[in-house]
Amino acid sequence: MTRMWCVPTEILCDEHLRGEHAEHHQLVGTILNHPHGEAIAGGHAEKGNIDTSRLEERHEELAEEMEQRGFNHDSPLEYEGPSFGVGSIDVSHNLADLVDRCADCNDNYQKNLNSYRSYSGEVNSR
Ligand SMILES: [Zn+2]
Ligand SMILES: [Zn+2]
Repeated sequence: MTRMWCVPTEILCDEHLRGEHAEHHQLVGTILNHPHGEAIAGGHAEKGNIDTSRLEERHEELAEEMEQRGFNHDSPLEYEGPSFGVGSIDVSHNLADLVDRCADCNDNYQKNLNSYRSYSGEVNSR
């Protein structure tokens, strides 16, 4: 299922990081090349899964995180097609859904929670 999670990239496990990245390229290919691409994109947008106005910026974030983790990234992404789902992505809903379905993303999320706590001066009990 195509979905732009748009959660902080450090929370994504390797699989979800590469998956979300691949979906950006697939989505652009679908909209521009698939005979029913616009209808398909409209369906994703209705569910709040995509926002084409954020495609390029989000792709950049994902590509940077991939490079930091040592994955090859050699696929620039540009999108100048029609707009779908602008403003429809609910990041906190996505975050809750992601950490619920993926143990690895949940681990990253918990690690980040700890770092937020230590920033605010609270003592980490571990
Ligand atoms: Zn790419
Ligand atoms: Zn994951």
